[in-house]
Amino acid sequence: MKKRGLIAALILACLALSGCGSESSGKSFDQGLQVTATTSQIADAAEKIGGTHVKVTSLMGPGVDPHLYKASQGDTRKLTSADVVLYSGLHLEGKMEDILRKIGEQKQAAAVAEAIPKSKLISAGKGKMYDPHVWFSIPLWIYAIDEIEEQFSKAMPEHADDFKKNAKEYKDNLQNLDKWARQEIANIPEKSRVLVTAHDAFAYFGKEYGFKVEGLQGLSTDSDYGLRDVQDLVELLAEKQIKAVFVESSVSEKSINAVVEGAKEKGHSVSIGGQLYSDAMGEKGTKEGTYEGMFRHNINTITEALK
Ligand SMILES: [Zn+2]
Repeated sequence: MKKRGLIAALILACLALSGCGSESSGKSFDQGLQVTATTSQIADAAEKIGGTHVKVTSLMGPGVDPHLYKASQGDTRKLTSADVVLYSGLHLEGKMEDILRKIGEQKQAAAVAEAIPKSKLISAGKGKMYDPHVWFSIPLWIYAIDEIEEQFSKAMPEHADDFKKNAKEYKDNLQNLDKWARQEIANIPEKSRVLVTAHDAFAYFGKEYGFKVEGLQGLSTDSDYGLRDVQDLVELLAEKQIKAVFVESSVSEKSINAVVEGAKEKGHSVSIGGQLYSDAMGEKGTKEGTYEGMFRHNINTITEALK
C-alpha cells in the first residue's frame, strides 16, 4: 500500500514538473508515436495497427496476472513518458486504476475495452460492474481494435489512412480466425462443451462459441476460492462426465489441482487438458506471443481435450 502511494505521488510530482513526459501539444513525433499498453493483447493490436508510425511498449509480460499487477517505478516512467496510453479498463487492471486515471487526466489515454457497447458486456453482478475478459470474443474485441485505430488517428491524423488500412487487415485476419475456431469447435460433441478453468476468464468465449464455462475463482484472481466451489465443480464434472479441466498460464495450478483430486476421490477421473492462455499471452517471439497464436493455441488445446 505504502509503495503504491509513493508511486502515485511520484507520478503527480512528475506531471507537475512536466519534465518526465513529452510536450503536450504541437507534437512532431520524430521518433514515432510512443505508445504504452498495459496488456500484451492490446500491445499486439497496437503494433499491427500503428505499423512503422508507432513504438509500442507493454507493461505486462507472459504469465502476468493483470488483476493483481502493480505498476513498478519503471512502469510509471513508461506511462508518464508515453504519448498515448492504452489500457483495457472495466477494472481489469484492478491495482493500477488510480495511476491510470491520473495519467488519463494528463495525456491521451483510452480504456479500449470500454469502447464495447454496454449492452454487449456481461454483467458482473454488483452495480455497474462488468466482466473485463472481452478479448476472447473476436466480434467484441474488434470494437477495441477500432478504438485503438481511432486513438492513433487522433494523435497522428496525417497517418489516418495507414492506420485504417492496417486495422482492416488485422480485423480481416481475426475474422478468419473466428471462422476457423467455429469450425474446430463443431468437432466437439455439444454435451462436452464445458470449460472448467482456474478463474472466470472465459465467459465471453463461452457465450460467443457455445461453451458452458465454470471457473473456480471469480472474475478476479483477487479472491480466495473455497472448498464449497471445489465440491460444486467436482459434482458438475462427475454429473456431466467431463474428462478434462484446464490450467491457465497466469494463475497458480493449485486451485485446479484441488478439483482434479476431489474428482478422483469421488471415483471420477479428470485430467488436466492443458494450459490455456487467459489473461496473459505467451513469450514474445513465439507463436503464442501474438493474439492470433494465443487464440489458436487455446482452440487447439480445448478441442484436443474435449472432442
Ligand atoms: Zn482474469
